[in-house]
Amino acid sequence: MNNQKRYDVAVIGAGVFGAWTAWHFARRGQRVVLIDAYGPAHSRASSGGESRIIRMGYGADELYTRWAMRSLLQWKEFFGAEHRMLFQKTGVLWLAGEDDLQLRQTIFTLKRCEVPFEEMDRAALERRFPQIGFDDVTFGVFEPESGVLMARRAVAAVVEDAVKRGAEYRLAQIATPAGERIVAGQFVFACGAWLGKLFPDILGERIFPSRQEVFFFGIPGGDSRFTPPALPTWLFQHDLVYGMPDLESRGLKIAFDHHGERVDPDTQSRMVSQEMAEAARNYVARRFPALRDAPIVETRVCQYENTSSGDFLVDRHPEMKNVWFAGGGSGHGFKHGPALGEHIAGQILDGASPEPRFSLTTKDTRPLDPHLA
Ligand SMILES: Cc1cc2nc3c(=O)[nH]c(=O)nc-3n(C[C@H](O)[C@H](O)[C@H](O)COP(=O)(O)OP(=O)(O)OC[C@H]3O[C@@H](n4cnc5c(N)ncnc54)[C@H](O)[C@@H]3O)c2cc1C
Repeated sequence: MNNQKRYDVAVIGAGVFGAWTAWHFARRGQRVVLIDAYGPAHSRASSGGESRIIRMGYGADELYTRWAMRSLLQWKEFFGAEHRMLFQKTGVLWLAGEDDLQLRQTIFTLKRCEVPFEEMDRAALERRFPQIGFDDVTFGVFEPESGVLMARRAVAAVVEDAVKRGAEYRLAQIATPAGERIVAGQFVFACGAWLGKLFPDILGERIFPSRQEVFFFGIPGGDSRFTPPALPTWLFQHDLVYGMPDLESRGLKIAFDHHGERVDPDTQSRMVSQEMAEAARNYVARRFPALRDAPIVETRVCQYENTSSGDFLVDRHPEMKNVWFAGGGSGHGFKHGPALGEHIAGQILDGASPEPRFSLTTKDTRPLDPHLA
């Protein structure tokens, strides 16, 4: 007789997507097992960074604006008083260059969705943020209620709470010769950049893991111009660059949103390149003249798990109807973890409608336009 434990749902991958998926199933009384090969939001996972932006602006894309709104509510409710510092309301400042169409569309969508924001012309920007160099900037939009999620610790907190709610967490690698056998009614593979390795025939060419480098610059001693509230989180779409103020004294964060080379998430080097370090230094010198000689105090190398459109992948396996894919965060997925977990639980438990943009059939085998974090 087979005494193996049977779960309602097995979630493979304890990054932000898998953690919130397991949490929503556990909240709804399901028997859940959450499995990860390396641990929740580990250093090779896309969710393993210190910090991720949560902003509502998405150009004309109302779907992600609404998802970000829904997710921010859930993150804040989840953090409550106990984990309050895992959301840092720094505000998010969008900067537009000469081609300001996307930011104009963002304004339109934010209005429609009743998201609070403030528009600032160049003079207002210069008055309010004298520590930023605004050359090439035409105007800005400030989202005061948005900010930063302290990513890896936030995922760890979600996993811990899912376990409190009855989920089991296991360290194990699925679908390898040494892998364990798990019996469950439904399987959700939330494996980020690993999805293509696990399902090479279906996803090998549909998920493009790209190398992304992140830099932290040390701020001058005793200088508060680079910490919130003096400096918000910011994104400059024209340059495909974004950054964060000095949070938890880690330094000013800066990263380029261009997609780097295709990488293997298990083996790619986590050492930054000279070339990107130089580019980051030059950019900081231009936008933050007072940090011209600031040292790089920390670095991270991570990967995006891009789809061809930048839209998420939430769909069933084409042949195995109880096997689901949940991924394709494409450099902007972290903030949406709560809404994504809720969406999958709704589809599996309530038969809620799928989102057509997340379907497998919309995922092409050629790489895409970048999305800003
Ligand atoms: C540098 C950088 C900056 C970013 N900035 C932002 C931002 O500011 N805002 C934002 O919203 N998003 C941002 N993102 C995107 C966001 O971080 C990702 O979209 C999100 O973290 C993806 O989460 P995930 O759970 O799908 O994947 P992951 O976090 O990679 O998790 C996948 C998990 O699956 C596990 N796994 C894989 N294969 C197996 C197996 N065979 N068995 C068991 N476990 C397995 C892995 O170990 C891993 O833990 C950024 C990403 C990067 C890299």
